[in-house]
Amino acid sequence: MVVKHTLYIVATPIGHRDDVSARAIAILKGVDRILAEDTRHSGNLLRHHGVSTPTQSLHEHNELAKVSSIIDALQAGESFALISDAGTPLISDPGYRLVRACLQAGVKVSPIPGPSALLAALSVSGLPTDSFRFVGFPPAKSAARERWLAKLRDDSSTIVLYESPHRILASLESLLTVLGADREMTLVRELTKQFETVLHGTIGEVLSQVKADSNQTRGEFVLVIAGCEQVPTTSTLELDALIKALIDQLPPKAVARCAAELLNVSKQDAYNRVLELKP
Ligand code: SAM
Repeated sequence: MVVKHTLYIVATPIGHRDDVSARAIAILKGVDRILAEDTRHSGNLLRHHGVSTPTQSLHEHNELAKVSSIIDALQAGESFALISDAGTPLISDPGYRLVRACLQAGVKVSPIPGPSALLAALSVSGLPTDSFRFVGFPPAKSAARERWLAKLRDDSSTIVLYESPHRILASLESLLTVLGADREMTLVRELTKQFETVLHGTIGEVLSQVKADSNQTRGEFVLVIAGCEQVPTTSTLELDALIKALIDQLPPKAVARCAAELLNVSKQDAYNRVLELKP
């Protein structure tokens, strides 16, 4: 089942140790070496599933230095699995530089998909999933965090971010400051673990609940925040009003020309809108 010369990117549990696929276990047993972010941490999971493949550390600080020897070994015929402490490697975890270097060297990289906190949280958030923006961890300092959030304020996609227990309150305060108390959000905590919690409400409500119960600041968090509702701007309202006034009097192209001249919008945009509003 394991193919030589291949780097497998293997997802492991985000809490419950049985959330790992049968194929992931077979690959972990079959490769020559497992690259693990923290070999001691992953050792517990590997032992639980009867995996005795040798492990080697690959983390943020040694990744770059190890890339070329790993590629040499892959090209010589070895196979590797990359795992992180939890979830899918590369998602706010090491591995990007290795995968990129493998692709550049023509080495096969193959995913063994499975858990990731971001998708697990999104799936229970009750917020739109058709378009979302994952932004990883917010900056640690509040001024930088608020500038960072301000850039997300007008995005209509659902926002997904990670946060740690010591900054959860500060981050919720920043969400309130920048996005306002009324925006909908879901705080997802300790997924697949004993104290799994899903708190849904407005940013103001979720912040009050977390402030009122210090247990809610413990563990690992994903924050899922509703995107900005598309509020029509004044010029959009004016454009619509003008089009509606002319649409029965003139052909569509003439309506678009008038609207473009009077309201300083592009003819193409005006024409597209005429077509949308045409009965
Ligand atoms: N690679 C991982 C993934 O695929 O989800 C994420 C690694 S990142 C270093 C760790 C962060 O993921 C935590 O700080 C937390 O924000 C989130 N996370 C991981 N496990 C979680 C869980 N069981 N419940 C909630 N959030 C979790």
